[in-house]
Amino acid sequence: MRDKLQAILKSAEEEIKIVTSSEQLDEFRVKYLGKKGVLKEILKGMGKLSNEERPLIGKFANETRENIEKHIESMKERIKSIELENQLLKEDIDVTLPSSEINIGHKHPLNVILDEIKDIFIGMGYKVAEGPEVDTVYNNFDALNSPKDHPSRSLSDTFYINEELLLRTQTSPVQVRTMKANNPPIKIISPGRCFRYDELDATHSPMFHQIEGLVVDEDVTMADLKGTLDLFAKRLFGENTKTKFRPHYFPFTEPSAEVDVSCFKCGGEGCKFCSNTGWIEILGCGMVHPNVLEECDIDSKKYSGFAFGMGLDRITMLKYEIDDIRLLFENDIRFIKQF
Ligand SMILES: [Zn+2]
Repeated sequence: MRDKLQAILKSAEEEIKIVTSSEQLDEFRVKYLGKKGVLKEILKGMGKLSNEERPLIGKFANETRENIEKHIESMKERIKSIELENQLLKEDIDVTLPSSEINIGHKHPLNVILDEIKDIFIGMGYKVAEGPEVDTVYNNFDALNSPKDHPSRSLSDTFYINEELLLRTQTSPVQVRTMKANNPPIKIISPGRCFRYDELDATHSPMFHQIEGLVVDEDVTMADLKGTLDLFAKRLFGENTKTKFRPHYFPFTEPSAEVDVSCFKCGGEGCKFCSNTGWIEILGCGMVHPNVLEECDIDSKKYSGFAFGMGLDRITMLKYEIDDIRLLFENDIRFIKQF
């Protein structure tokens, strides 16, 4: 039996030399030391030994097992370092290669212009006010002196949620909310998303962006309005920009005007951007109608105010020479990357 054990140790020592991986080492362990391994098989014959022989053979069997375990342990270490080396060879890193490019995004052109406009008005002491995109019919139309039969109220122009709620068609409901919640002086701009039942084409989108402004205080006059918008135009389009106020009609302001700026592409000479007129229309404005002030619990005898509104999409398109509004909302990275 001792010979058999010696033979096992000898063949184990030979065999372990050709082990080269953890998997092979596991197989080796199972073969020699497993429950059904070679060693266990031999020891089954212990019962047949004499009482003198049994402890001696038992001791020798233990030594044999310990020897094999030692071989396994040292082989384990070797295989570990071999495998690590193989892995490192596989993952060979060339430190001289340039690193992969890290892409940092940037602001959408609409946000670039929005931030510019916000900065201009914040510099003039305005606060930024925001409101919900779903608002009441009252805040969107009634409180703004809009006649019941005004065409913009029709189902073909406005997205209604139900009889009382709609997707706001302008950011003016924010003005109503602000006036109802605050006493004058009020000085806000309200940028935000608006919705109208428009067919999508190069110049129209059912979702678009507005920025409105509202000032209510004692002794606010048309001169303040003109001075404010003239300064705004110069800051946004350049120091040489001129403004022109054309009389217009809005239900919520009286008097009302549309404002043109001298073309910032050609300086007023005439080009394709201004349709050769030298002027570009950018916003609507006027003195807040006394009916609107009263509806919002502001004494129209004591206070007066002006309001204005412009399309952020249109101004962005003008400044960046974008000829299709759909490009602003398609989220095509090739488009956005140009700005
Ligand atoms: Zn021009």
